[in-house]
Amino acid sequence: MSGAVVFFDPVFEEHKTGYGHPERPERLRASLGALEESGLLDAVDIRPPADATLRDIGLIHSQKYIEQVQRVSEGGGGQLDMDTTLSEASYRAALRAAGALVNSVDGCLSGEFSRSFCLVRPPGHHALPNRGMGFCVFNNVAVGARYATSRKGLDRIMIVDWDAHHGNGTQDVFYKDPSVMYVSLHQYPHYPGTGEVDETGQGNGKGYTINLPFPAGTGEEHYLEAFERVIIPAGRRFAPDLVMVSAGYDSHVGDLLCSMRLNDLSYRKMTGLLVGLAKECCNGRLIVTLEGGYNLEAMARSVVQTTGALAGVEVSGKDEAAEATASAGKAKEIISRAASLAGV
Ligand SMILES: [Zn+2]
Repeated sequence: MSGAVVFFDPVFEEHKTGYGHPERPERLRASLGALEESGLLDAVDIRPPADATLRDIGLIHSQKYIEQVQRVSEGGGGQLDMDTTLSEASYRAALRAAGALVNSVDGCLSGEFSRSFCLVRPPGHHALPNRGMGFCVFNNVAVGARYATSRKGLDRIMIVDWDAHHGNGTQDVFYKDPSVMYVSLHQYPHYPGTGEVDETGQGNGKGYTINLPFPAGTGEEHYLEAFERVIIPAGRRFAPDLVMVSAGYDSHVGDLLCSMRLNDLSYRKMTGLLVGLAKECCNGRLIVTLEGGYNLEAMARSVVQTTGALAGVEVSGKDEAAEATASAGKAKEIISRAASLAGV
């Protein structure tokens, strides 16, 4: 059994978003190049995923929306919304991106591997059941989580989302669902506008959504404090059968669209904490999927650190100064409030 695998397919680079779009194919090439240079590929296999089936995608998205994506894409491309563009290959890329998550669930449960990194695009965490938005087409992590509960019989999935934007799509899908705990750390206020600390779920799902809306300029110290005081204790109590991560690298200090202050090694530390939680709760099963991240170099180096932590291999990294510029008081207040709402 190999410890960790990376899922990647060249079709992800055929999803074209147009000149000047930040969510561009080069993001994956840069990450693959950095993985090669790091020497990590001696320890980690790269595999092509299969397409998700329409039935898998239909676990989250309406038939009507899936057909719309296919029609617009295969008709030569077009816009799903102001910033979400489809090209001719986008439908195929989107099916395969979600397929990486389905393959990851299957591989983790069969014991073929314990941890995976899905190096995919288009990203997913903003996508709603009936609508794509924010560069996202199908909600990859949501498809994987629901596949795990409804097809594979898992009882509890935990999704941690450290993309700098709130994963409104993922929250929406599981807001009333106690079988999926969704935790997001994000810049707030910021796109898409959701993810206040008081959004904690509804009905049977009350208490299974945790939001940490940090001010712009929040750095590693408070991300790690949120893990220690809120995310890890809430995870231990929830005792997931599988841990998943929406890994966006736009929370890096070098990102072009956001203003958070993490560095390469911050991602290694956060991944390490979740590797530990997964070992405690669920035989180490941990699936990470790529969301945002728009500074090619910063993102590629951070993908390497994440993958190193998944594989249990030390990789030299850059610990560039990334002091928080936000007031510590506000971040601490959010952490305390989230802890008290989560009862930890
Ligand atoms: Zn983002």
